[in-house]
Amino acid sequence: MTTTQPRLRIAMQKSGRLSDDTQALFKRCGLKLNLTDRRLLAHVSNMPIDIMRVRSSDIPGLVMDGVCDLGIVGDNTLEETALERELMGSKSAYVRTCSLNFGGCRLSLAMPEEFNYQGIKSLNGLRFATTYPQLLQRYARENGINVNFCMLKGSVEVAPRVGLSDGICDLVSTGSTLEANGLKEVEVIFRSKASLIQTATPLSPEKQQILDTLLPRIQGVMKAKESKYIMLHAPKDKIAQVSELMPGKETPTILPLAGRDDLVAVHVVATETFFWETMEKLKALGCNSILVMPIEKMMG
Ligand code: ATP
Repeated sequence: MTTTQPRLRIAMQKSGRLSDDTQALFKRCGLKLNLTDRRLLAHVSNMPIDIMRVRSSDIPGLVMDGVCDLGIVGDNTLEETALERELMGSKSAYVRTCSLNFGGCRLSLAMPEEFNYQGIKSLNGLRFATTYPQLLQRYARENGINVNFCMLKGSVEVAPRVGLSDGICDLVSTGSTLEANGLKEVEVIFRSKASLIQTATPLSPEKQQILDTLLPRIQGVMKAKESKYIMLHAPKDKIAQVSELMPGKETPTILPLAGRDDLVAVHVVATETFFWETMEKLKALGCNSILVMPIEKMMG
């Protein structure tokens, strides 16, 4: 009798704002898979993992119902589905395995530019077009106002102009779409990023073992994305001031330079943003050959 090895099933958005970043994350974690064909269940050839490609809005439910072991989805979709399922008495539990550093956006209330906004109370009794009625109503309740809503799955920004609603409650990243549609953002009601979630029921030991290999890779890719490798030449007598200017908490590596008694090479992994201003200060201290490089992978 042959036994098949269990495979970890991960749901991802098939196409849309999260799909490219999710695909890039899998690639950087070393997963070999072909997402270019039209199969909705893609087989990872070098790890016991299957990727299920679905609509973003279906991902929380698939994980909450245990159809998929894990999923990558925006916190906005996750929270909206959890609230909706709680209301309906369906399964709404899940575990947030880790927060990812892409898909950043905010759910905001926006009104026509001519609206005289006088604080949250001036929105009492108004009607909002939204894809996120649960998040909207929770925010209204918490702020002591009543709002009505009409559900729209797309092109929400057009609703006030055509008389469907007074304002909108929609996702914003730069604000340029709002501006282009004559709207102004008045309140941010929820901040969102993509998350890796998993079922509330513990995974089988075999599946847990697969996740224990995958998770450090995901965390390593996230950490590497935020970090930079900095190399520069510094005057030997300025090492203390140079080290002080380095962003992050890593201790710099100091290396001798061939044929130079006055200069040393300083290498450091910076875990915080390295600003032009810091480079200018380093230059002013007599540093040169300042290089800031991306890091591909990190572990430990
Ligand atoms: P579906 O896959 O069900 O069609 P969707 O219509 O929400 O989902 P997208 O518009 O691709 O699909 O958005 C997917 C997710 O991307 C959002 O739920 C949100 O978490 C994130 N996101 C990041 N920035 C934005 C933005 N400016 N507008 C909308 N979503 C954004």
